[in-house]
Amino acid sequence: MSSGILVMIDRPTIGQTGPGDPFRVVPADEPALRATVLAATRGDGIFETAAIRDGRVQAAAAHLHRFARSAAMLDLPAPDPDVYTRAIERGIAALGETDASDAAVKYVLTRGDEEDPSFGPVGWAHVHASEDFTGARRDGVKVVLLSRGYALDVTQTAPWLLQGAKTLSYAVNRAALREAARRGAADVLFTTTDGFVLEGPTSSLVARFGDTLVTTPPEAGVLPGTTQQGMFEYATTIGLVTEFRDLRVDELAEADALWLTSSVRLAVPVTAVDGVSRAADTALTSAVNAFLVARDD
Ligand code: PLP
Repeated sequence: MSSGILVMIDRPTIGQTGPGDPFRVVPADEPALRATVLAATRGDGIFETAAIRDGRVQAAAAHLHRFARSAAMLDLPAPDPDVYTRAIERGIAALGETDASDAAVKYVLTRGDEEDPSFGPVGWAHVHASEDFTGARRDGVKVVLLSRGYALDVTQTAPWLLQGAKTLSYAVNRAALREAARRGAADVLFTTTDGFVLEGPTSSLVARFGDTLVTTPPEAGVLPGTTQQGMFEYATTIGLVTEFRDLRVDELAEADALWLTSSVRLAVPVTAVDGVSRAADTALTSAVNAFLVARDD
């Protein structure tokens, strides 16, 4: 996989942009950031990762909307959606048609520089060819249940933990994935201390109970998933009911099927939970992923 294209966004927030392009295209494998930028020193910032198919960002508006939501949760100035859109388009053009047929973009806003308050917020968009997730979509993933260490009401009791914001501080999520690997699984479902199930470290949970698809509501401190939203859109077109509600861990055993959903990997069936095998709903997985790949919103 190539290292892709980096578009540095020097003036990424509303009110900061003046005349001329507020960004510049640089090779992604060349140094581009100050070592004192708060993204690097504190993980203080936000990001989005979106899929690019046939040169177009999928669910572009939903990602920009969530980006703005995360910024507000971190008291960051509002990112300029137009600047990010243009920067990403520039990156896609520089990546070239072949790679941009199946690619991804990670775009970032960070608060500024730890040493230099005049530096202001900076951002970037990294556009690169996508990893191949065909195998995971077909074969599914085994997951383990790992505690997130707080209760279901964390967003009310401790909003400063920023649960449900897409912050750059993903070290905990990465540690959870390493713990999953130690336990022989490829992914994780986070649980609360009071017995509810939340989401994966980089994905939403969708469970099917008969004709109803269920996901955990954002109030529980999970990230509102753009792919889960797409899956729900598809579900309604084929007569399934969709529901946001708190899901108890013990309900997982009663579900007919479970998926982890995320923008680039799409809907992946869960084939085992804590070593107990689960049946995959292959037909619905294929149909949902065909819908998600074809979406042009
Ligand atoms: N939950 C978390 C914690 C995530 O990091 C992600 C995506 O990376 C998701 C859910 C799924 O969101 P989306 O479907 O918009 O990619």
